[in-house]
Amino acid sequence: MKYSPAKPPLTGETLATLTARLQERGEPGFRARQILDWVYKKRARTWDDMTNLPKPLRGWLDDTFELMPATLVLNRQSEDVTDKLLLELGDRALIETVIIRVPQEGVGLEHSRKTICISTQVGCAMGCVFCASGLAGLKRDLNAGEIVAQLLQVCYREDARTPRARTELASFDNIVVMGMGEPLANYDAVIRALTIVNAEWGLGFGARRITLSTSGLVPKILKLADEPLGLRLAISLHGATDEVREQIMPVNKAFPLAKLLPAIRAFSEKHGRMVTLEFILIEDVNDSLEQAEKLRDIALDLHAHVNLIPYNTVEGLPWKRPSITRQERFAEILRRARVSVTLRREKGHDIDAACGQLRLKTEQTRASA
Ligand code: SF4
Repeated sequence: MKYSPAKPPLTGETLATLTARLQERGEPGFRARQILDWVYKKRARTWDDMTNLPKPLRGWLDDTFELMPATLVLNRQSEDVTDKLLLELGDRALIETVIIRVPQEGVGLEHSRKTICISTQVGCAMGCVFCASGLAGLKRDLNAGEIVAQLLQVCYREDARTPRARTELASFDNIVVMGMGEPLANYDAVIRALTIVNAEWGLGFGARRITLSTSGLVPKILKLADEPLGLRLAISLHGATDEVREQIMPVNKAFPLAKLLPAIRAFSEKHGRMVTLEFILIEDVNDSLEQAEKLRDIALDLHAHVNLIPYNTVEGLPWKRPSITRQERFAEILRRARVSVTLRREKGHDIDAACGQLRLKTEQTRASA
């Protein structure tokens, strides 16, 4: 499951680890900051762009680190507001990163708010039956540098589309760790990556604008509650009873609601923030009024926000999205009880926006080539 690249990615280094490496070779302490400044603030794309570094140091950096461990191989733009980047890693593994634009009145789409959805693993072992990412199982974990690289690739692309006077700013407004993979199953790399994203010497991106989504690995949720980073948490609930959840999410066997719900409560009490419950609505699986009532009770009990997501069909899987009337009836039960709820209007259906589908199709094409 582990991938050891010939050269570690620079994007996986923290200020402390890079300083230590540089000091080992007798470089002054300030060099690490200079280098990270080139990477995150000035968006250097080659070592030679780092013009205030001595040439021998640039040569050593080139021999020692991979500057960018992910290459953009495909950029699919939907007719609505979602773009998907397909990135290739050093071992030819493919991952997806999605840019979701939130239209705002009086502002062109290019300048609208952007949420970036990043992946944390190649494939996924959790086996949720409705999900394209899990179809071929888990190939491997991403390392911290590969996770950070996805955001830099978005910055490169967004900077080119809408040049900003100050490139030191991240080119997006929110990050959701909800792409391919179960982030808490790759805990250390994810925390290291988000620390780099958050640090002032890194992307300088506020932790309160980062939401990590998990299928419900209870011990790791409790561990996350103790992290000083202060991320937001979302839970892929998708079933309001064990019976329904277990049918579609195998993780529920190890961590049923009796264990999961207290862990969510512990996290939200510790951080004083509302947790989001993600609920993909699938026809005749979890869209009954009884499920809506149970979900309402859970949300009220946890003071949680509910995000209802009508299912995105996945080729080869039998699940369907409920009609709009059924979606609205479900949402209405929560609204009537004053639960904070959003019913997501779909984005990106025409570019296989359901997590993992673009990668799956590209891998199938590669295999048959
Ligand atoms: S929904 Fe998330 S946790 Fe479940 S299989 Fe897909 S990527 Fe993994």
